[in-house]
Amino acid sequence: MIFDTPSLRLPMTLDADLCVIGAGPGGAMAAMVAAEAGMRVVVLEAGEFLTPSQFTQREEQMFPRLYWDSASRTTADHYVRIHQGKGVGGSTIHNLNLCKRIPPAVLTAWREERGLSKLPPSTWESLYSEVEALLSVAPIPQSQWNTHNRLLEKGCQVLGWAGGGLSHNRTGCIGSGFCEIGCRYNAKNNALKVVIPRAVAAGAQILASCQVVRVEHGGGRVSAVRAVAVEPVTHRPLGEVMVTTPRACVAASATASPSLLLRSQVPDPSGETGRGLRIHPALVAAGDFQEPVQAWIGIPQAFECVEFLDFADPGGHRTWIVPVLAHPMGVSTMLPGHGEAHRALMSRYAHLGALTAMLHDRTAGTVRHEGELSLRIDYWPNAADRRELMHGLWASVHLLFAAGASRVIVPSSPTRIIERGQAYDDIKAMELRRGLLDVTGVHPMASVPMGDNPAKSAVGSDGKHHHLRGLWLADGSLFPSSIGVPPQLSIYALGLHVGRAIVTAGERI
Ligand SMILES: Cc1cc2nc3c(=O)[nH]c(=O)nc-3n(C[C@H](O)[C@H](O)[C@H](O)COP(=O)(O)OP(=O)(O)OC[C@H]3O[C@@H](n4cnc5c(N)ncnc54)[C@H](O)[C@@H]3O)c2cc1C
Ligand code: SF4
Repeated sequence: MIFDTPSLRLPMTLDADLCVIGAGPGGAMAAMVAAEAGMRVVVLEAGEFLTPSQFTQREEQMFPRLYWDSASRTTADHYVRIHQGKGVGGSTIHNLNLCKRIPPAVLTAWREERGLSKLPPSTWESLYSEVEALLSVAPIPQSQWNTHNRLLEKGCQVLGWAGGGLSHNRTGCIGSGFCEIGCRYNAKNNALKVVIPRAVAAGAQILASCQVVRVEHGGGRVSAVRAVAVEPVTHRPLGEVMVTTPRACVAASATASPSLLLRSQVPDPSGETGRGLRIHPALVAAGDFQEPVQAWIGIPQAFECVEFLDFADPGGHRTWIVPVLAHPMGVSTMLPGHGEAHRALMSRYAHLGALTAMLHDRTAGTVRHEGELSLRIDYWPNAADRRELMHGLWASVHLLFAAGASRVIVPSSPTRIIERGQAYDDIKAMELRRGLLDVTGVHPMASVPMGDNPAKSAVGSDGKHHHLRGLWLADGSLFPSSIGVPPQLSIYALGLHVGRAIVTAGERI
């Protein structure tokens, strides 16, 4: 069953064979596997349990309910936005459903650097096949590419740049374009629709609006998980929930998982917990087109430009370019300026097409806990990543003009509007100083990287913690580096892998 924790009698104590923390793709998969193997599973999820009929298609209503900090989470210095979802289903409720496997070059580098003996490429291969079948992953039909994506295709064709169609996990999509604030038509084959029902059918108990504060341990073993029922949106604590359990699987995302481990004082002689955070930082440019683009209609991202995404050459470019979705609140915060100037840009809303250049980053950010319920993220791209980001911004501008834009708006401070025919190659050499442009990351990962050597890593390649018995991790924290492609498919795969490791370990914890 799925419970709304604030409506239960509090304080309360439960007993479980396994407590899963976080109901995103990693946690949902691990819970499903363990429940189907007969374990008594309790899942604690800080966000609400919402169903498609509650996705109202209004940004001001859905951002506070589906995103941490109402989609305004930032790094501690406020210069980088980090968008992360919450709720039963995690970020898969509002994500854009793109599905890509980790490139072989990345897996090879991981093996060389970290071993990962329990997760060789052949295991990834079979996990991906299972997950793709489970989520009905398929190429997005060209008939469903909207004008916005066709413009990126045109830009690539004109320039002779590499690009192509993307794959997704949707069935019965009517192209409403509201993916980022929840699909009212239940067309997303996400954790909420596909995985959670199986976990529940197998007996898992899911407590929504229940935020974990600490993993309790003693004598080198997990003993319990301490949580609080929270008010939706504000996360004001309402009463305590205690789950006594010999096993915990932390899957609260690459920001919340390390902060929880640190707050819980889980031992880690390697010191890696909370370090190494990657976010795939991105910059945006918007083109103003004569013809209407109506970017808000249709599947938001269906085409990619990979001209500058080179996994084989360590000195090569590392940028992935895709259209970026455009609902009114999102666009108005992206567009620069104030008052009349901002209004003039917004009046072109229907004619704007925007591209985002997302970086396969090497910068290592940090995550720490702050108080009982909060966390702190520090991340600013290093010099090499800043250069690559500016190159990606230049490439986006170039693509927009090649696609026919009459002018391109670079949302910098001060605003830069480049008219067709004007020079813009200087962008490549510009220094990305703090505050020049909004930097946004929607793919936090790699903050508790797995590795075979307990002296150099906190967690093994089966998700098992090296230094605390009964503890596993099953989310994007586990990646040893940036993966350079959308992460959800790989996180579902990790959840499956770790869930099986928990079941296989049985009483040997
Ligand atoms: C706008 C946007 C679009 C995206 N589009 C794509 C895409 O097209 N393709 C793709 O592959 N990826 C996409 N992503 C990224 C992808 O959705 C995430 O990388 C993925 O969902 C992360 O999975 P996870 O299990 O690590 O964490 P999450 O999905 O974040 O799940 C973690 C869960 O843990 C919960 N939690 C956190 N703290 C606690 C706590 N203390 N106690 C209890 N519960 C807690 C959270 O509320 C959350 O529900 C997108 C992300 C965003 C923001
Ligand atoms: S575009 Fe498709 S998946 Fe996205 S919200 Fe609309 S119907 Fe749902």
